[in-house]
Amino acid sequence: MSSAPVAHWIDGARTTGSSTRTAPVFQPATGEVAREVLLAEQSDVDLAVGSAAKAAVAWADSSLSTRSRILFAYRQLLDQHRDELAAIISAEHGKVLSDAAGEVQRGLEVVEFACGIPHLLKGEHSEQVSRGVDAYSVREPLGVVAGITPFNFPVMVPMWMFPVAIACGNAFVLKPSERDPSASVRLAELFSEAGLPDGVLNVVQGDAFAVNALLDHPEVSGVSFVGSTPIARHVYARGTANGKRVQALGGAKNHMVVLPDADLDVAADAAVSAGYGSAGERCMAISVVVAVGDIADELVAKIAERTRELRTGPGDQPGSQMGPLVTGAHRDRVRSYVDAGVAQGATLVVDGRGHAPAGNENGFWVAPTLFDHVGTEMSIYTEEIFGPVLSVVRVATFEDAVRLVNANPYGNGTAVYTGDGLAAREYQRRVTVGMVGINVPIPVPMAYYSFGGWKDSLFGDTHVHGADGVRFYTRAKAVTARWPRQSGIDLGFPTHG
Ligand code: NAD
Repeated sequence: MSSAPVAHWIDGARTTGSSTRTAPVFQPATGEVAREVLLAEQSDVDLAVGSAAKAAVAWADSSLSTRSRILFAYRQLLDQHRDELAAIISAEHGKVLSDAAGEVQRGLEVVEFACGIPHLLKGEHSEQVSRGVDAYSVREPLGVVAGITPFNFPVMVPMWMFPVAIACGNAFVLKPSERDPSASVRLAELFSEAGLPDGVLNVVQGDAFAVNALLDHPEVSGVSFVGSTPIARHVYARGTANGKRVQALGGAKNHMVVLPDADLDVAADAAVSAGYGSAGERCMAISVVVAVGDIADELVAKIAERTRELRTGPGDQPGSQMGPLVTGAHRDRVRSYVDAGVAQGATLVVDGRGHAPAGNENGFWVAPTLFDHVGTEMSIYTEEIFGPVLSVVRVATFEDAVRLVNANPYGNGTAVYTGDGLAAREYQRRVTVGMVGINVPIPVPMAYYSFGGWKDSLFGDTHVHGADGVRFYTRAKAVTARWPRQSGIDLGFPTHG
């Protein structure tokens, strides 16, 4: 175990602050504690927010060109350090290196989007709304905003937030997941190297205490959260009760509907890739395959055949396609869902519970697991497992499939597999889900669109990054201007003419 705990990043430097509590950070492939991470006290949160509040004033005054240039330099540094960042992610999260590199790439694309901030912040202008009067709107930063992020994308999810917030002229306090905290400090350090002034981006390591301290802090104006639904609900309620602007993205149960005309080899490839990639620890993972009509036997056979061939092993081992789960507690939880699925009567087609690769027997393993004949009352259907467990639900018709997906309380992502454009269009129009893939299993929007689910998958009005991100991190000011040569008293309400 390395000796120094993972520190905070406050005012442009690593610091231990006054934290005395720590939490273990595991190496999931071996099951060992790799290091500890500091857990912030109130004074650490105050220090970070204070540093951000001070920096926010000058940063909001910086020119758009300055911000754009620093973001561009940051983009170049991220590009140079992508392998290093991927290795940090893989070591603490467990995902395979190629998957971690993909996460870095998707985060980097948000920085590329934010480089265009001079264009994104252009307001509106109407000349001569009344005689001699012009009207225009501008968007101004909120001040200090906070981001609270989950373990499953320790680079990409923070980067959905802070590049856009900072480009808009805000200062940012990030509270990353305590389960894989190291990448966040490296991201902040690289931004500093790119020329970001001290205090514009701070990282506070911590647990629920730090989250609540940020939600209650009077100098924090906005909060972006990504994590599980119960915590998203809590963050939204507490933050908005304190008068803050909050967007809180929650959990998911993503369905992939396979229509009878679909190419079943293509659909089976997609189900396996999207169900087991990153060990199912993605909010956009497919966890339910909805087999429509009489294709189920053939589809399940094709998925099972592919599932059995997957290689599960350490994330940094060449040949591994899927890594371990993030902690031992999470592995136990995932296994208990598989036990419950068996007890509740689903057909266990492929059982990943016993997997233990030679030499790494103590890692947090569950290999790809496949259930057929899953009922909507079973806990493997009703709850978010967040592991490599794929459930097949059989329905008779397209209408049944739409009803099933729309009845689910989550609404993050969904996919439809078909060769029929009209059916796909109908599905896209009727489904109550925020992100839809048509023959695309993980429809994560590009950085210049916005990412977000519906229903229990998001609390708030705006999605993250893209145009919604710019709107969330700024507030509008509408200006009406006149330069009169003469004046007079008029107590009437202003009208135009
Ligand atoms: P989590 O909800 O346990 O933790 C998220 C954050 O909240 C962490 O920073 C954590 O420290 C903090 N937190 C945990 N308990 C808290 C409490 N009681 N009070 C205040 N803060 C608390 O989520 P996780 O396990 O890290 O991540 C997995 C979850 O995130 C899954 O549900 C997944 O679907 C979801 N997720 C959603 C999206 C999305 O875009 N909708 C993206 C990624 C992950």
